[in-house]
Amino acid sequence: MPSTTAAVRLVPLGHTFTPEIPLGPAGSVLLTCYATASGKGKLHGDEACGTLRSASSVRSAEIPLSEAVGRLCGTCRWPLPADSPLLQVGAAVIDIGTLKIWLDREPDSEEEKAEEADAALALATGEYPPSSTGEPSDETDGESEEQEGDFDDEAWERYSKARETRRHRHEQWRRLHTYLIRSNKALQAFPVLRPWAEPLQARFAEVIEEERRAFAALVQSVPLVEAAAVRLLPEPEFTPGPELAGLGADAAKVVQRAWDAWKHRASWSWHRLEDNDFAVSSVVRDAFGRRRKGRPETEDAFDELVAGWIREARSQAALHSEAPQQLLAVKIPTVEKEDCEERAHDPLTTWETAVIATYQVAADWPAGTVALLVPHLIGEHLISGATSAMPITRLAVPDSALPVHALLQAWQPEADDEE
Ligand SMILES: [Zn+2]
Repeated sequence: MPSTTAAVRLVPLGHTFTPEIPLGPAGSVLLTCYATASGKGKLHGDEACGTLRSASSVRSAEIPLSEAVGRLCGTCRWPLPADSPLLQVGAAVIDIGTLKIWLDREPDSEEEKAEEADAALALATGEYPPSSTGEPSDETDGESEEQEGDFDDEAWERYSKARETRRHRHEQWRRLHTYLIRSNKALQAFPVLRPWAEPLQARFAEVIEEERRAFAALVQSVPLVEAAAVRLLPEPEFTPGPELAGLGADAAKVVQRAWDAWKHRASWSWHRLEDNDFAVSSVVRDAFGRRRKGRPETEDAFDELVAGWIREARSQAALHSEAPQQLLAVKIPTVEKEDCEERAHDPLTTWETAVIATYQVAADWPAGTVALLVPHLIGEHLISGATSAMPITRLAVPDSALPVHALLQAWQPEADDEE
């Protein structure tokens, strides 16, 4: 019985360890357990456990985990010293057990499937209803904007729901990657868990594949290629003219800012090029503040600038459309949430995630890697964004027509330094 409480953790062992989990050396760790005087029934970590209350007398014993494991009370917590080996193996078991929770999930209902299908149809035309321009008026800062006369609430509602469906699929798919990769790390630390974990991982990889297909159905490949072409555009040359007079001496700076914002957004999102104009309009709005003079002319001028960038990106995309495809190996990074953060941080941009979902031809989930067969421009853009958290390598397709999966398995991404 530990004498101090400071270095003790209360751990719900019965919740974590079940008989099918191979324990290895952790099985010989002795636990202080309480049971009824007969010694039969559940073993408890707490003498005062509610289910023991009716027993006339309670006795305690030191029992190795491997013997106790099928009889552990599901609600009791065991006091374990902070250096107990059970804490680390328990954390590994939880990381692997997370896979099981997802495998036992209900399949999508017919209604959900119909919603997905409609979302795919809607998003195939863009982010917003085809007749509309820009984003709804709640994006403005309280000024009275001109109302669009034929604003179609139902269409907006449909597209908003479609975007929400895609966001949900996207986040879910990434969350599943993270769980599987985390389970790999748990296995590296505790290989003894393999016989239990590997069948779970194999089934989980199938779930990830289903999720990939569902998410890929909600993104379009043409905008992905065009987004990749944006990085080939030259910096815009600023030509002063009366249409930008409203910006005064700042005109050149505002054009540069608008270009930087648009380029970043257009090249790293799954949107059609036309659906990134918010990046530019917000720069122009900031530049004007409350001033109105010359603003409509300036807005029109920026619309034309953006239209020119879009035309140029499309012609670059067309120019490179015949270039050979590339076979790439990508190590998938996990989504991480720091304790202080409200939302998890995904190191992948939406464009990268959509590319991986759309062009994946093989996956090696035990290694957390995938192979992509991508159009030339996408390959170049993807490699330009490679980081140590997401190493990318071009795989050469050898004459021997070795299957892609074998090529991927042979790839050794540089070890990342997060551990
Ligand atoms: Zn209990």
